[in-house]
Amino acid sequence: MIVIKNPEEMKRMAYACEVSAMALQAARTSIKAGATTLDVDHAVAECIKKAGAKASFLNYNGFKGNACVSVNDELIHGIPSKKKVIREGDIVTVDVGAYIGGFHGDNAYTFTVGEVDKETLRLLNVTQQSLYEGIKKAVVGNRIGDIGAAIQAYVEQNGFFIVKEYIGHGVGRDLHEDPEVPNYGKAGRGARLVPGMTIAIEPMVNYSTAECLRMKDGWTVVEKNHKPSAHFEHTIAITEGEPVILTRFGGADYAS
Ligand code: MG
Repeated sequence: MIVIKNPEEMKRMAYACEVSAMALQAARTSIKAGATTLDVDHAVAECIKKAGAKASFLNYNGFKGNACVSVNDELIHGIPSKKKVIREGDIVTVDVGAYIGGFHGDNAYTFTVGEVDKETLRLLNVTQQSLYEGIKKAVVGNRIGDIGAAIQAYVEQNGFFIVKEYIGHGVGRDLHEDPEVPNYGKAGRGARLVPGMTIAIEPMVNYSTAECLRMKDGWTVVEKNHKPSAHFEHTIAITEGEPVILTRFGGADYAS
């Protein structure tokens, strides 16, 4: 069942999203060569705690981290670890949600560490732009399939691979609500978009194959050929007018 948020709920939702965006910004400042993925997790935890919020992912289905921190070929669900050291040239994806006032926000970003090779940068730029191609379609009268079709077309035109096993979702009182928001599909299909819907759009894109592997830790998902992978996510609200990006940090996106 798709939950439509009333204006009061939407305000609270916006605040949870603001805190989520702040947590992602805290992660960003902690990412540098020599830091561990656990250091990134600590930065996120501190920010969320200061805001009086809770990390949405902590203990979610048993996940041991405040954020998912995934490096290079790791696409999603990387478990923060003091053994995992970030190096110059790495890409680091942080996915973080904050829960406050009864609502969740959810966002993700793939950051670069120093100088990153050109093809990896292209993957990041295409994935981030595909998110915006999807958001553009998140308008009243369109359907969920319009979002996925736009994302898929943009990624495939650029020669990369949409991961289909993992998808976006509605978000609100629950971290994962209806509807499912796939990063692929057919325009004109799926649930109709109406004002008051809040959804997380989150293209996950691999460099060389759509296939992924899950590591022995039971969580970390990697690109099957161990090439780079990227993930960008915003929580957005469907309105009568343009879609509103609720997780935009400080009114701007800090494109890398
Ligand atoms: Mg999400």
